[in-house]
Amino acid sequence: MSSIPFLPFTRPTIDEETIADVAAVLRSGWITTGPRAAAFESALSAYCGGRPVRAFSSGTATLETALRLAGVGPGDEVVTTPLTWVATANVILAVGARPVFVDVEAATRNIDLARVAGAVTPRTRAIIPVDLAGLPVDRDALYRVARDRGLRVVEDAAQSLGSAWAGRPIGSSFGEGRDFVSFSFHANKNLTTGEGGALVLPDDVDPVLCERLRLQGVQRFPDGGMDVAVAGGKANLTDIAATIGLGQLKRLGEFTARRRALARRYFDRFALPDGQALLARGLALPPADQEHGNWHMFQVLLPPGTNRGSVIADMKERGIGVGVHYPALHLFTLYRGLGWKEGDFPVAEDIGRRILTLPLFPAMADGDPDRVATALAAVLA
Ligand SMILES: *Cc1c(COP(=O)(O)O)cnc(C)c1O
Repeated sequence: MSSIPFLPFTRPTIDEETIADVAAVLRSGWITTGPRAAAFESALSAYCGGRPVRAFSSGTATLETALRLAGVGPGDEVVTTPLTWVATANVILAVGARPVFVDVEAATRNIDLARVAGAVTPRTRAIIPVDLAGLPVDRDALYRVARDRGLRVVEDAAQSLGSAWAGRPIGSSFGEGRDFVSFSFHANKNLTTGEGGALVLPDDVDPVLCERLRLQGVQRFPDGGMDVAVAGGKANLTDIAATIGLGQLKRLGEFTARRRALARRYFDRFALPDGQALLARGLALPPADQEHGNWHMFQVLLPPGTNRGSVIADMKERGIGVGVHYPALHLFTLYRGLGWKEGDFPVAEDIGRRILTLPLFPAMADGDPDRVATALAAVLA
C-alpha cells in the first residue's frame, strides 16, 4: 500500500468562505432561485462584457434552450464535432433536428472549420463548435464561415470559461452580437456550482423568453395572475448553487493561471529524456497553446496500438487517476443506429481511441506533473 495520497484527474477547489456563504443561504429560508442566482447572472454578465446572461441547472439545458431560441427544430440540421461530450449532439436530437458531424483537426482536436462549408446543406441552420479541453476554436475562421453560410452559432464553451480569443474572454461576442455562448458548471469544469450552466444571449433574443423556456413557460402578472404560452422546461439554478458559483468566479483568474503553470510543468517534464523517448514512440502531447487556453484538461494521445484500459488500471495502481474525454460519439450505439459508422471521421476516431486525460486542477502540487509523467513512462515502458 502506498502512503502517497491518490491523485484524481480533477478535483474542485471550494474555499471556506464559499462554504460559509452556502451555509448562510441554507439558513436564510430561501434556497432555490432568488437573489443569489440574480447576483451570479450579473457577475457573469460583467465578465462577458455586459451581455445578457441567464443561469441554468446544467450546460445541457443551456445548449438545448439556445437551439430552441434560435428556432432550430424538426427538419433542420446542425453542424458540430464528433469529438465532444455527447451532450453536444444529444441536444440536437432533443429539439428534433439532425446533427451533421464534421471531422476534427489533428493539431487542435477541434472541429475542422475548413470542412464546414462542404457539410452545409439548405437545411443547415446552426453550428455548435466546441472548445475541447478549453482550447478555443479559431473565432475569426468560425464567424467567417458562419457569416458566409448564414449559420447561427451556439458556442459550446462548457470547457472554455477563462479562455480568451484575441485578448477578449470567451463569452464576449465574437459574432456581432448574434451568437449564443453556453457554459457548464458541472463539478469537473473550471468553475463549478456542483451542477449548473449559463447561457449568454444574442442581442436579438428576448431574455424574458429565455426565462420562460427555463421555467415551464410561466409568465406572471403583477395582480398575481399567470399565463403559459410556450412549453418551457425546468432548468433554473438554485441560490445554493449560485453561491458556490459566486465564490468560484472571484477566483477564476487565479485558477486559470495555476492551470497554465501546471501545464507548463508537464511540457517541461516531457522535454526530459524519458519523455522524449515516449514522444519518439508515438505519444502525442496536447496543442501547446499557452496564450488562449484555460487548460481545462491536459490530454495526451497514447502511442497507436496501446491498450488504454491497462494503462488506466496501471496508473490507478500507482495512485493516479486518469480519464477518457472522449471516444468519438458517432460510434455510440444510438448514433450508429442513426446511420453513422466506423471510418466516417477518421481523425476524431483515432484521437478518441488514444486520448487520455492526465491530472490537472488548481490544487495540484508543483511536483505532481513530474509524478504523473514518471508513472506514465514506467507504465508505457
Ligand atoms: C460538460 C459539457 C457539456 C454539458 O454540461 P452539463 O452541465 O454536464 O450538462 C456540454 N458540452 C461539453 C463540451 C461539456 O464538456
